[in-house]
Amino acid sequence: MISDQQIETIRLQLVEQLNETEQRLEQDSQLFKDKEDSGDDVDRANQEESQQLQLNRRQHDLAHVKSIKDALRRIEEQDYGFCEGCGEDISVARLNARPESRYCIDCQDYRERKNSQYA
Ligand SMILES: [Zn+2]
Repeated sequence: MISDQQIETIRLQLVEQLNETEQRLEQDSQLFKDKEDSGDDVDRANQEESQQLQLNRRQHDLAHVKSIKDALRRIEEQDYGFCEGCGEDISVARLNARPESRYCIDCQDYRERKNSQYA
């Protein structure tokens, strides 16, 4: 069972991650705006490639923000640290490594294996 102290440490980590990620999203949208203004043909292929990378990262960041907010809400509701798959406690080591985890390691493995069958 995770202690209040440990949850508080994780909560602070999550808030920090949320700020960082939102800041990066903000910077990225600024970057997109700049690019729309410049009608430059130079290095177009490169630019498109890096734009695709940025879009991927942006998508990843947006999903990350959502899962962090989700974790913070669960902490708020004192529903944090339980696996949504089997209802067992998620190990503290796992929560420290990935505070936004919603599943214990077994359920996560199972889900990933199941998903990869369709990939
Ligand atoms: Zn589980």
